[in-house]
Amino acid sequence: MLEFDLIDQVRARIHPRPDVILGIGDDAAILQVPPDRQLVVATDTLNAGVHFPVDTAPADIGWKALAVNLSDLAAMAAEPAWCTLSLSLPDSDADWLDRFLDGFLDLAARHRIALVGGDTTRGPLSIGVTVHGLVEPGRALRRDGARVGDDIWVTGSLGDAASALVLLQQASEPMLASACEAGPILPADDAVDLRIAEALAGLRSRLDRPTPRVEIGRGLAGVAHSGIDISDGLLADLGHICRGSRLAAEVEVDRLPYSPALAESFGDARRYELQATGGDDYELCFTAESAMRERIGLIAVANATPITRIGRMIEGEGVRAIGRDGAPWHPQRGGYVHFSD
Ligand code: ADP
Ligand code: MG
Repeated sequence: MLEFDLIDQVRARIHPRPDVILGIGDDAAILQVPPDRQLVVATDTLNAGVHFPVDTAPADIGWKALAVNLSDLAAMAAEPAWCTLSLSLPDSDADWLDRFLDGFLDLAARHRIALVGGDTTRGPLSIGVTVHGLVEPGRALRRDGARVGDDIWVTGSLGDAASALVLLQQASEPMLASACEAGPILPADDAVDLRIAEALAGLRSRLDRPTPRVEIGRGLAGVAHSGIDISDGLLADLGHICRGSRLAAEVEVDRLPYSPALAESFGDARRYELQATGGDDYELCFTAESAMRERIGLIAVANATPITRIGRMIEGEGVRAIGRDGAPWHPQRGGYVHFSD
């Protein structure tokens, strides 16, 4: 199969948008930007074995490649509009491409983002996506807007994706896992096997199919002072807001939201670490003045997604985590740098 056949295969499956004046097929796309909007652009690349396990299903790779980019638009409070797709493929596999597009275009349709171009080359499996979004002038959420006294909030739950990676690694190194005293709780009893298997499947789906918080991000325009999406771990990413805003953050580790599956698979100490430092969450972290609490509660209800207050912005620099006992809390293992990009 030739490069042009692959491009035709992509082209045959895309949905148009009226503001795409010229899409796939020419040297470049032509897009109609509304006169009263600012253009917001983000790009992220996913490499096999680095940003997703090599055994990840093609549809999940397609979903995730777009999801991590939509998450960046969400963090800016931008509305998704157009995207491009740069594919480096080891071979011209029409069946693989179709399954990849199943995931990619499913998520694209949900957010009405149009695929308007890209590039197709042969090489190690790598997927580069660029997204374009629209925002009302001056309403984008930035890292440098936090103010002293702001509440700090996070959407959804933290640590699921990182915990799935830990469990996958331990499953492939069972001897190491049993020797690891702080490892997951995996009871030997057959009766609980099903429950554990379900928990693992749930955690794995959070790794493979992150939910970009696009609608929540849109709702936060004009409500939050600053925002970021959590890709490298909460403490690391909140650190970017602190640096950008020249302030410090105080976070209560016990307030960090978690899923039932995470609590079922790990003890408290390990869970805190995964929530505070694990990567690949793709939740939003934002700051807003306390007068906005009710408004934020309504956004959570409207999107059927928990939004949890985890701390506040103070004078100083850096992120201070506080444990259940009120004393400073530090991650034992120094974060999960190998999960970051
Ligand atoms: P050029 O040589 O001018 O860069 P290409 O042959 O690379 O043209 O691409 C032809 C058309 O197909 C362009 O409109 C390009 O944007 C589009 N395209 C190429 N690869 C992809 C892809 N993976 N997804 C979407 N569009 C693609
Ligand atoms: Mg090209």
